Amino acid sequence: MLNVKQGDAFLFETNKRESILIDTGGKLMQSGIKENHNIAKYHIIPTLKKHRLKTINYIIITHPHIDHMGELSYLITKYKINNIIINTRSFEKNKLKLLIKQCERNHVKLIDFKNIQRFKLGKANISLLDSTINHSEDLNEQSIITYIEYNKIKMLFTGDATINNEQLLLRKYKLPKINILKVGHHGSKTSTSDELLQKIRPTICLVSVGKKNHYHLPNQEIIAKLKRLGAQVFQSSEYGEVTIKLKSKLTINTEINQ
Ligand SMILES: [Zn+2]
Ligand SMILES: [Zn+2]
Repeated sequence: MLNVKQGDAFLFETNKRESILIDTGGKLMQSGIKENHNIAKYHIIPTLKKHRLKTINYIIITHPHIDHMGELSYLITKYKINNIIINTRSFEKNKLKLLIKQCERNHVKLIDFKNIQRFKLGKANISLLDSTINHSEDLNEQSIITYIEYNKIKMLFTGDATINNEQLLLRKYKLPKINILKVGHHGSKTSTSDELLQKIRPTICLVSVGKKNHYHLPNQEIIAKLKRLGAQVFQSSEYGEVTIKLKSKLTINTEINQ
């Protein structure tokens, strides 16, 4: 879990330095303030470099909210990216056109998630699960859900998917027990239903949130519920960047010690 303040950015890496970045973080530009890309500059690119990743194999944009894709255009120009996966339908026409152009210019392959439901990256198996609700006006309900299996470790990244998506997900797919869960929608009450938790029983939960964010996230009831389940919960607002070694015994390193 990268430390991108209020937003999401999760980096998955194999032992051969193959990588997937799920969301890029990003913050709302206040009018009058010059565009800055401090999040990518100080919190994403240094981590990629530290891990000696010269290329990002895939960027998955769960849904086109600024806190999930705000740093994308900057990253496209600053880093070698092979593929970007999006839910095309969730994008406004103009935004999509711009992205297509930018991908062409920088030799990035842009892929709709419906065209790549399962793929391999080295020894990792990745499934892009579709529980999107197309007619929903809430972009969170267009979130791509990513399931990764690597070294027998099972990980689920749900973007900002809501309880409605979770219900669909449970109906459509047979989910296993999950070792690492990216908690939906920054720990908001709109996500993380009891039904989902009972099914996947996560052991490590990652919550990406900014300190003292004005959405008052995460919701404390959600955090309490996860802990009651016996899960270890890590908030980026408290621990900063959180790194988990994906070996049979999961070891967790945090930027800030508690
Ligand atoms: Zn979000
Ligand atoms: Zn969102």
